[in-house]
Amino acid sequence: MNKRTALVTGGARGIGRGIAQSFLEAGHNVMIADLAAGDGWRYRLGSDAELASTASELAAFGDVRATRLDVTDAESCAAAVRAATDAFGGLDVLVNNAGVVDSGPIGDYSAERWDRLFAVNVKGVFLMAQAAVASLRAAEDAAIVNIASIAGKRGAARMAAYCGSKFAVVGITQSLALELAPDGIRVNALCPGMVGTAMWHDHLMANLGPDEFAERMRELIPLGRPQTVEDMGQAAVYLASARNVSGVALNVAGGYEMH
Ligand code: NAD
Repeated sequence: MNKRTALVTGGARGIGRGIAQSFLEAGHNVMIADLAAGDGWRYRLGSDAELASTASELAAFGDVRATRLDVTDAESCAAAVRAATDAFGGLDVLVNNAGVVDSGPIGDYSAERWDRLFAVNVKGVFLMAQAAVASLRAAEDAAIVNIASIAGKRGAARMAAYCGSKFAVVGITQSLALELAPDGIRVNALCPGMVGTAMWHDHLMANLGPDEFAERMRELIPLGRPQTVEDMGQAAVYLASARNVSGVALNVAGGYEMH
């Protein structure tokens, strides 16, 4: 059987990097794609150096390439899909993982902040799916995995923009699952719980050190630990491989969210 090819957005670090490694270990070719801008958000995003070092470190697990991508830009999305198909001869799995977090009280939260967050977390999923759909239709066993969140299942104070964006990702997932089912393309969402990435350490719980974060998660999460990028990789590979599963939004949250 030919190797499947997966394109993972936001793959320079964090959950995207973990997902990319799991797809390589499961025998896929992988293109990681990232804004790689470093600055430009409320906390530091993945950098060019991280994109390059992730690609070179993941090469130990299989054939991996890297490209720059801005998911808010349709041309850039088309170019990333082309980079994957040119490198590997096709595209079988799209993982829409690129995302940003922001929080704050509604009174202080500007419309500009709202638009920028929605451009990445929501429009980015739409633009990438649109850019990839022709290649996915041509594949034998195609899947889209959208990284939503448990914040797409339940609202949280000071998180209207982020939760709203992740509820939108679940809605887009269900709609595309129905629309693309006749083409044999499965579309699912993965809802991570709490993974100790930059989102937590540099923004949501920037006041806590790594040990305090882990302790807080041990108290909160029924299975007694924060989630890991490996947990997300395992679930993403499952969702991209299960032949009769489409339209689900799977919590990987140690029992913290069950809805
Ligand atoms: P992260 O900040 O470590 O990684 C996100 C990556 O996306 C970064 O490398 C960043 O450079 C990239 N990115 C940002 N804007 C982009 C753009 N316009 N185009 C392309 N790439 C862009 O964060 P993470 O925790 O690994 O988050 C990955 C995904 O998981 C996000 O969608 C996030 O909302 C979701 N998520 C995370 C958690 C968690 O606990 N960390 C929980 C639920 C959901």
